[in-house]
Amino acid sequence: MRCSARANAPYLVFALLAVTLAAALVACGGPSAAPSTASDSTAAATVAVTTAPATAAAPDAAATVAEPTATAPAPPTAESTATAAAGPAPVVAPANVGAAPRDARTTQLAPLPLATGARTVVIDPGHGADEIGAAAFGVVEKQSNLELAFRVERLLAAQGVRVLLTRRDDVRAFSGPAIAGFSAQRRDLQARVDLANEERVDVFVSLHSNGSTSGTERGAEVYYNAARPHSDFNRTLAQLLLDGVIAEVRAAGFEAINRGAKDDSCLRAFQGRCFPLFLLGPERVTTRDEVLRRGGNPEALGFAPGQDAIRSRATQMPAALVELFFVSNAQDAALLRSDDAREAMARGVARGVLDYLAAYPR
Ligand SMILES: [Zn+2]
Repeated sequence: MRCSARANAPYLVFALLAVTLAAALVACGGPSAAPSTASDSTAAATVAVTTAPATAAAPDAAATVAEPTATAPAPPTAESTATAAAGPAPVVAPANVGAAPRDARTTQLAPLPLATGARTVVIDPGHGADEIGAAAFGVVEKQSNLELAFRVERLLAAQGVRVLLTRRDDVRAFSGPAIAGFSAQRRDLQARVDLANEERVDVFVSLHSNGSTSGTERGAEVYYNAARPHSDFNRTLAQLLLDGVIAEVRAAGFEAINRGAKDDSCLRAFQGRCFPLFLLGPERVTTRDEVLRRGGNPEALGFAPGQDAIRSRATQMPAALVELFFVSNAQDAALLRSDDAREAMARGVARGVLDYLAAYPR
């Protein structure tokens, strides 16, 4: 489940934790009062789920304005993506051998060319702690995301890639003291971005699964942001991740619906503004006036005396958010409960990362 809301794809949470989602919607990129939608008010016919009240969100000063940044570091210089799928001959045995027949292209991950040097990636298992993400048919997204992240980590590490996970347990990525006015989700997401920036990683990949009240929506999709200085690289990364997942899951003998690689720049529209996913979008600016208009305390939000605005920190490298199928769809949920299918998903994500790194050597 993305940390954002769309009218045609609201998300499921356990009834007990419904309110936490509303805060998450805001924290992950929306305005302080998320727009209601008709579909948000209907409960899905799945496992004890309901939707969050859109107006229950806590104030989130930094999530109200999105604007492009002009200061992001330059992306890799290579321009062609044609070589992305053409790596050296695979020499490493697959980590998982399932019952379904697979060909060499889809069972073995090509190692990176030695000339590419050491590469580092962040794998971000979405959600954590009381923010569980989507949940249905016996699949709880926060748990599923983390388990998949461990699989991707293992596969990439075997290829010589340094992998950093934003969390390794059922926790938020940020554990410091609370700051009045800043939602825990908002600080959690910023911490995930900060880790990637501080470590100067090559790519940032966030792992999620979708949820919908429709029950018929299914498939995998990958989000990227087209409003960044390195948007072409974002798009390439997203497409390679999607290609990898679809190919690997199908090769493992499962059905995989391809929903495409999608620009999240205007994933949510509210009061004439577009709000991308916090993890993928440009920096956001929150002004002192905005805070005061909402009755907030700028200093309590981190404003220095006389400071007119505070800014979030955006990823400084290509980034994408992978939605690995719908937990709210019976067939997709069965995939997410299958060890073979999960290994194929992880192999697909790892393949996408490796293909990207091979296409853009340092
Ligand atoms: Zn999610």
